[in-house]
Parts: sequence; C-alpha cells; structure tokens
Amino acid sequence: MKYLNRWLTLFLLLLVISASPVYAQRASHLTDAQINQKVDSVMQKMSLTDKVGEMTQLAIDMISKNGKNQLQIDDDKLRDILLNYRVGSILNVGNHAYTRDHWHEIIRKIQNVAVNEKPTHIPVLYGIDSIHGANYVMGSTLFPQEIAMAATWNPSLVKEGARISAYETRAAWIPWTFSPVLGIGREPLWPRFWETFGEDVNLTKTMGVAMVNGFQGGDVSDPYHVTATAKHYLGYSLPESGHDRTNAWIPERRLRQYVLPSFKAAIDAGAHTVMINSAEINGVPVHSSKKILTHLLRDELGFKGIAVTDWSDIIYLNTRYHITKNYKESIKVAINAGVDMSMVPTDTKFPKLLKELVQEGEVPMSRINEAVHRILRVKFLLGLFDHPYPKNTNYPKFASDGFAQTNYQSAAEAITLLKNNNHILPLSRDQKVLVTGPTADKLTYLNGGWSRTWQGANPKYNTPGKKTILDAIKDKIGSDNVNFVEGTTIDESKNIADAVLAAQKSDVAVICVGESTYTEQPGDIADLTLPAAQQNLVKKVADTGTPIVLVMVEGRPRIVNDIVPDADGILMDYLPGQEGGPATADILFGDQNPSGKLPFTYPRHVNDIVPYDHNFTSEVGPVGYNPQWHFGHGLSYTTFDYSNLQVSQTEFTDGDNVKISVDVTNTGDREGKEVVQLYVNDLVASISPPVKKLRDFDKIDLKAGETKTVTFSISPDDLSFVGRDNKRITEPGEFNVQIGSLSKKITYRK
Ligand code: BGC
Repeated sequence: MKYLNRWLTLFLLLLVISASPVYAQRASHLTDAQINQKVDSVMQKMSLTDKVGEMTQLAIDMISKNGKNQLQIDDDKLRDILLNYRVGSILNVGNHAYTRDHWHEIIRKIQNVAVNEKPTHIPVLYGIDSIHGANYVMGSTLFPQEIAMAATWNPSLVKEGARISAYETRAAWIPWTFSPVLGIGREPLWPRFWETFGEDVNLTKTMGVAMVNGFQGGDVSDPYHVTATAKHYLGYSLPESGHDRTNAWIPERRLRQYVLPSFKAAIDAGAHTVMINSAEINGVPVHSSKKILTHLLRDELGFKGIAVTDWSDIIYLNTRYHITKNYKESIKVAINAGVDMSMVPTDTKFPKLLKELVQEGEVPMSRINEAVHRILRVKFLLGLFDHPYPKNTNYPKFASDGFAQTNYQSAAEAITLLKNNNHILPLSRDQKVLVTGPTADKLTYLNGGWSRTWQGANPKYNTPGKKTILDAIKDKIGSDNVNFVEGTTIDESKNIADAVLAAQKSDVAVICVGESTYTEQPGDIADLTLPAAQQNLVKKVADTGTPIVLVMVEGRPRIVNDIVPDADGILMDYLPGQEGGPATADILFGDQNPSGKLPFTYPRHVNDIVPYDHNFTSEVGPVGYNPQWHFGHGLSYTTFDYSNLQVSQTEFTDGDNVKISVDVTNTGDREGKEVVQLYVNDLVASISPPVKKLRDFDKIDLKAGETKTVTFSISPDDLSFVGRDNKRITEPGEFNVQIGSLSKKITYRK
C-alpha cells in the first residue's frame, strides 16, 4: 500500500507537470519544418499592417503614463500601439530598473492586450540590455562587465554567469537580452571598450560562445533562458576616432581576420538575434549595407534569426549620416539592405512609411515576409505563443547566495595582479592602512554603466548590503586599522593634503584610482591618461615614503606610466561588479590568490597603442614594442614553472591534429590558478605574419608542489589566416609553437 501510494503520487506529479502550461510542449521539441508550418499558418492571416507592425520595436516610454519615473503603463497608449500599429516588440526601461513585481505587472498588461485584443493574437517580444546580469531588475546579481569576465580566462564562469543572468531576466518575464558584445576591443579610447572581451579574436570567440550558450541553454522556450543577441554586427568597436558611433576603416582582410570570427562563432552556436552596428564601415553606414546585412550575414554565415537595428538607426541614415534625403528613403534603404526589425524606438511613423513603400513597390513584399517569418520564428522558439509570460513559475534562486558566490568567484578570478615588487602583496592585517582615491568607496564605479540605469551613476539603486572596496577592507581588518580619506574625485583634487597626513600615519596606502561610470557617447574622452588629480594623489602619497598599492577600477586602460614606479603593488580591478569590493579585499589580504590575466595590451603611452599580435615591423625602430603590460600578463602569489613542451608530430598535413602538451608545476607554497596560453605563428607567410597568435588556452588549478600536464590540439585550419585574395588559407611551412618561454617548431605540408 505504501509503495502504491508512492507510485500514485509520482504519477499525479508527472500528470501535473506535463499539464502545467510552462512544461507543455516546448518549441525546441518542434522540428524546423514544424516551426515553419506554424509561422506560415500565422502569417496567412496577417495583413500588411500586421506585418510592418511586427517589424516595429518601440521603447517602453511610448506606452508610459507618467514619463520616466515610476513608470505606469498608459492603457490607451498601449492599445494604440498594439491595436492600431500592431507593434511586435517593445524594449528597455524608462529611467531605471524595476522590481520583479513591477516588471510582471508591465509584461502581463502588454501581453494580455497583445494576445487577447490584437487581431493576430501575436505576443510581444520584449527585449532588454541584460549585459552583466539582469541589470534592469532591482536586486539582481550584477556581474563583472565583459572585459573583466574575459580577464578570468575561464569560459565556464562566463557561461554560468550568463545562465544566471538569463534566469534573473526571465524572472522578470523578459525573454530577450541584447548581449553579448562581440566586437574586439582594440581601441581603448572607445567608451564601450569594457563591454568587449578584449583585443584577441580567439578569446572573444570562446567567451562569446560561452555567453550565448549560457543565455540560451539547450532550449530557449524553457522559463529560465533567454535569446541572446550578437552585437553590434559588424565593426562597431573599431572607430577610427575612438569616439562612439563613428566611422571605422576596415579593409576586407581585417574584417575577415579580426572582426567576423566572433560573430560567425556566435551564429554557429545558435544565437537567435543580431543587433546591427550603429556606425559606419569605410563610410558606409552598416544599416544601409546589403553586403554586410544580407550577403555576409545570410548568404555566407547562414544566419536565420532576427537582425534588429540599434537605437534610431534607420532615421539616422538621414539625420546623422546624410546618405538619404528623408526618413522614408532611409527605411527603404535599410529594409532592402536586410533589416528585419527597427528599434525605432520613439515614433510611430516607421510602420506607416514602410507600408507605403511596399504599396508603392519600393520594398518588395518578399522582404517583408522574410523579416516577419524570422521574427515569428523566434517568438515560437521562445515559446511565447504558448506562454506570453510564465504564469506558474517562481524563481526562488533570484539574487540567491549561490548566484552571489558565482559572481564573487568571477570577480576574484578577473582581478589581475600587474605588479608586486618586494612582495608587498598580500598585505598583513596587523598594520594601519590608508584607503584613499575616488573609486575606494563607490559601488557604482565597481558596477560601471548599464547598472540599474543606462549610465549606472545613481547609487540610489544599489543593492543594499553590497560592499565597496573600503567597506570590505574595514570588514577584513577592522575599522580601527583603516584611515579613509577620499583624496580626490575622478578629475578634481578634493583633499590631497589630508590624504598625505593620513599616509604619514599609515603603514601602507591602498589608492583606488580609475573612472566613474559611463557608456556610449557620454563616455567619450579625448585623452587616455589617468586624470591629473588622481596622479597627483599618488605622487603626493609616494612622497611620504609610505608604500603604495594601486587598485585600478576602470573600463579601459588609462595611461598610468608616470605613477607606476610609485606603486609597489598594482591590481587591475576592471569593472568587477557588485562583489568586486570583497574580491578586491580578499586578494589584497591574501584570502584569494589572483589569477586574472589581461585580455588586452595595456599601453604605456597614449599614442602607442599596439596589440600583441602585431607584425614584426612594429618592433623595429627606437620606440620598439613597449607596452606597460603585455596581453595575457597577470601575476600570482605563487609561482609556476613550465617544462617538457611536447608536440605529437613535428610534421603535419590536412586531417592531422597536432597534440601539444606542457607540464606546469606550482613551485610556490600556496594553491593557485594558472592560465596556460598556447601561441602558434607562421615563421614565413605571404602576408606579414604576427609575431605571435593565441590559438588556445586552459585555466588550471594547482596545489603547492603539484604538476599537471596540459594538452592542446591544433589542426591546419586553426592555423589559417586571411590571405592576399581575402580567402582563408593555411600556408605550408614552419610554425613556432610557444607556451610560456618554451617553444618548438612544427612544419605543415600540404
Ligand atoms: C546601444 C545598444 C543597446 C540599445 C538598447 C543602444 O544605444 O548601442 O547596445 O542594446 O541601445 O538599449
């Protein structure tokens, strides 16, 4: 009887689960053909008005009652845009993040009108920038920004972070994030440098794929995953001026060698949407480029998902770029180039004008059908037709300790020890510590842009209880041992004299320098140098003779050459997120062993910005190659020794995989993590080869005294480059294989 009861309970449970709306038939259980059939059957009933409406994405401000604060949905406006304009997608927040309850109220209202009152009953696709956690949901887990995640060199952490971000975004009933950024970060002036995974193609590819997989999981229709957006397709991160949304000169070879691979990898990994680059490549606004939006994206990369514009970018073809005479012509150009959805986002002219263009024969109906098909396909994949919002699901792990732990681990593995003279770090706890500098006591600065608000500057929305660097140091060694003087703001000397006095009474000074919060154009700067006020603070404290540890909280490498000699210890914090305070303090005092490595080259001078994979010519001449810190650099509190580099074959040909192995030993006296980096490069090639090129990496954990063998596998394809005819080629000849200071030659024969 006892067992019978158990079976009965199990049977009933299964019945309930299978009948619950959330677990009813999931979209990914459908084949492509089944999805197409469903899409086609919806499209058959759609008018032209319905279709151009589907291609329209409006900002939530368009349906808000009372402007941007405490946004309430205006039912009339909502009905107007959904019933009259048949709008298919809405995005973003008004001024700031909302609580989950508030989000539920907003999404429920939108979807109820869409599903019950729109003639087509098509649910709305809501999109948001969850770029380092569900940053527009109050209380969510705020991770290190992408540049810091790249510094972990740990794709599992990146994937797990994205999985958590997806969970917390879905917890607000939002199924679509505009992330990850996949442009390579090679222009440090650019105010979105920190939104990239840094300068290397391989690292960006690996981390980008990890992030897409974390967001989307195996099945985006489940209530815990979201669809990812590979953005900003293509070439946005390389503006010639360094200013946001300005022209990039990218020859085809550079495009294919450096810019395209991360997008290709994300598309191959199944990213369902791409967002288009707001700027221009070679003077061609990307929103007008059929070559990039159709030939490259569709015909070559085989992308099947939605290509959405960035903010206002269709009208900008006229008002900013001056390549069209008016809005209507801009729409014609953009839609014919391959845009599927327009992030309008604040007027209702787009669908009206697009409809006219179709009626006038200027935009073919086939283009409209193609775009709408793609949009509806993603809505089916997301399961929105079955569940416009996840009625019965609750999200018990939202902002849980477990998520905070992953977040903390990410920050701890990101923070990079750049300098450690005289073993100043880790600090001992029994000394008086001066904590000073503008980034010491600001949680917002640790989080950076896109944190609760677009610019991330308002501390009002910080999660209570999260600690600044100062808080965390006080927790660790007791307030009595800490002297705090802010010293300066980011750009203005506030009270350097007080900091100097406090330094005289302290055993060590932890000076937290860096940047305030910013993204996009508000973050444009004309000088990469760390502001003079902060450099003065460091100089004046150095004059006291008190040893200095510099902590750099910054989204791009601000030039610090003049003050580097003043500091014995330097930690690069990047933008480490809301566990960045404790992670920094734990590293400062040795409770964590740093293992981050720079995902970019840290320049020494403002005008000498040369990536690590430069050609040999960059090393010639009196200046030579002389960065402040090299790509891949990062110290540990232990030491690692590399030995026994082996290759499985010294000659290889097509179909071969060369195994490359190395022994890594922890020769210090404490456990530590090491990133083993494999560089392989052509000795001679028909295009000047780079001096070195990262091909693979692995992060390993070693106990004191422990040795591990790390093995990589390289195929001829992995060693290809884009040749003189802009096609990929692996040229026969010798290659240099390098790990640490060990190297070997291998030869490829065709
Ligand atoms: C940014 C995008 C972002 C979009 C929506 C734009 O200004 O360039 O990255 O996804 O706004 O917020």
